[in-house]
Amino acid sequence: MTALADLVREIPDYPSPGIVFKDITPVLQSAQALADAVAALGEPFVGRVDVVAAIEARGFILGAPVAVALGAGFVPLRKAGKLPFDTLSEGYTLEYGTSELEVHVDALERGRRVLVVDDVLATGGTAAAAAQLVRRTGADLVGIAVLLEIAALRGRRQLEGVDVHALLAG
Ligand code: AMP
Repeated sequence: MTALADLVREIPDYPSPGIVFKDITPVLQSAQALADAVAALGEPFVGRVDVVAAIEARGFILGAPVAVALGAGFVPLRKAGKLPFDTLSEGYTLEYGTSELEVHVDALERGRRVLVVDDVLATGGTAAAAAQLVRRTGADLVGIAVLLEIAALRGRRQLEGVDVHALLAG
C-alpha cells in the first residue's frame, strides 16, 4: 500500500489555519490506485454486507464502487436538508460547531448488514454519528471502512466495538 500512501496529498492550513487536509484526489486520478483502494476497502467484508452506507461527500466517491464490488446496495448519509424524503437525523460535534447526518427513513431496515464508508477518519464524530444512524434503523453495523485514519486524533475512541478498517494511517 506504499503507492497508495504516496498519493494522499497533505495541504497545510486548509480549509482553516492549523488543519492539515488529506487530499485524496490523486488516488482517485490513478486508475490503478482507485481500483486497489476500492478492492482493499471491501476486502475484509466480502460476503458479509447487504448495503454500503457512505458519508457525504467524499465517502460517496469510494462507497458506490465498494458497494458494486461487494454486490451490495448503496445508501447515502447526507448533511441536513439534502435528502428529499422523510429522514432520521443524528447530530454530532465538529472541531468548531456541530453538524447533522441524515438517512432516508426507508433506506435501511432490521437485519440489513451495513458497511459504512468514508474517505478520512479524523476525530471520529462523523463516523460515530453514521454508526448511530445505522443502529437506529435496526440494521446491523458490520464495520466502517476508510481510506485514511488520522491516528493521532484517536477517532476510534468514539467507535468502541465497531470493526474499523483503515487502509492507511497518517
Ligand atoms: P471527523 O468527524 O473529525 O472524524 O471528520 C471526518 C470527516 O471530515 C470525514 O468525512 C472527512 O472527509 C473530513 N475530514 C476531517 N478532517 C479531515 C482532514 N484533515 N483531511 C481531510 N478530510 C477531513
